[in-house]
Amino acid sequence: MAPSLPSRPADVLVVGAGFAGAIMAERIASVLDLRVLVVDRREHIAGNAYDELDEHGIRIHRYGPHLFHANSDKVVAFLSRFTDWWPYEHRVRASVGEQLLPVPINLDTINARYGAGLSEGDVEAWLAAQAEPMSHVRTAEDAVVARMGRAVYEDFFRGYTRKQWGLDPRQLDASVTARIPVRTDRDDRYFTDRFQALPAEGYTAMFARILDHPNIEVRLGTEYAEAAAHAGHRHLVYTGCIDEFFERRFGALPYRSLTFDLRHEPTPGGATVLPVGQVNFPSEDVAHTRVTEFRHFQPAEPRAVTALAFEYPSATGDPFYPIPRPANRERYRQYQVLARTRSDVTFVGRLARYQYLNMDQVTGQALATFAERAAVIAASARR
Ligand code: FAD
Ligand code: UDP
Repeated sequence: MAPSLPSRPADVLVVGAGFAGAIMAERIASVLDLRVLVVDRREHIAGNAYDELDEHGIRIHRYGPHLFHANSDKVVAFLSRFTDWWPYEHRVRASVGEQLLPVPINLDTINARYGAGLSEGDVEAWLAAQAEPMSHVRTAEDAVVARMGRAVYEDFFRGYTRKQWGLDPRQLDASVTARIPVRTDRDDRYFTDRFQALPAEGYTAMFARILDHPNIEVRLGTEYAEAAAHAGHRHLVYTGCIDEFFERRFGALPYRSLTFDLRHEPTPGGATVLPVGQVNFPSEDVAHTRVTEFRHFQPAEPRAVTALAFEYPSATGDPFYPIPRPANRERYRQYQVLARTRSDVTFVGRLARYQYLNMDQVTGQALATFAERAAVIAASARR
């Protein structure tokens, strides 16, 4: 093998090869024509969206099911430059009692669970009769109880949320459960966005194309601190945890983590184990929150085996979720004030902004951040 040449110094160092970092790197490399070094402490690109084929050829999402959905044409157009798409609409059932019921709650969920015998036109009145009106919807409990009532809250939300976050829903912002709507019709799709699809060859292949630019170098298994000492960069794009960047001087920001138990089961005849791609378990009698069967995400090829990922929430491990609650928001604000004083650093993404964002939102945020910061980045790199 030829000895590797020492790489030229980078103009910009990007920390993190997930959506935020990869998109910022691509924009800086191609629009500003600057040299970018992208580092990630993990041994792979794609951040939490990383996927890979297992030994049976089933595409596994290593960090939990990642379903792409978007309403922004701009976001879809940008990513479509780097991937074709496999149309996929995600469906979820909740395991409640002996039943597997559609989530989000819809007409069929209500009729099956509460024996209400409703038709579409009756659902709003049923919900209104269940709901506990409140002047101010503040918490994750309020968001459900004020719209769907306490029975739905107890059956579908309370236990799941307590397990997922390690907190009572009363301790979490309304935005956490407000992500899940209620439907008055029989639509059982998890999302209703105009665009719903998975990258045809997976997220990792899409990221490899985003990062495939002569101005971009990627170094994996590399910590920010290690790269910063040698990169020679004049601007930094940082997509890791903001409290870590500032050495937790205002205290640690909490993040929720997960562990995944990947199991393979024989499926003679190619049948699936679950009726849909994901089953949720709101009951606190079991420790896992949800099970994903990846076969549903792919073109139906009969296989003798299927792969299931059981998700177990955890207080320690990779920082997967910022925890939306008032005390954490306040602490983040202190870091945000500090971040604004740093014209040499651009903070972007779910961990650097401490926001519970989906992939389409992070893509939109990275594109908008590049547009806002391009002049600053170009100027600092010229110095
Ligand atoms: P990340 O993907 O977290 O990337 C940050 C990268 O920075 C990481 O790879 C990390 O290793 C690296 N890094 C951090 N600090 C350092 C350091 N000091 N040195 C070197 N490297 C560092 N979104 C959807 O739209 N649909 C879904 O179905 C969906 N499902 C999800 C399921 C789970 C379980 C989780 C956790 C998230 C899900 N998301 C989903 C959200 C999605 O993962 C995020 O929106 C997206 O990955 C955020 O991209 P990012 O670049 O901001 O962060
Ligand atoms: N949630 C719930 N029961 C469910 C699904 C969701 O209580 O069956 C709540 C829970 O608090 C969860 C939040 O709604 O953390 C958001 O759910 P989502 O599926 O969007 O979570 P993510 O995919 O981001 O983990």
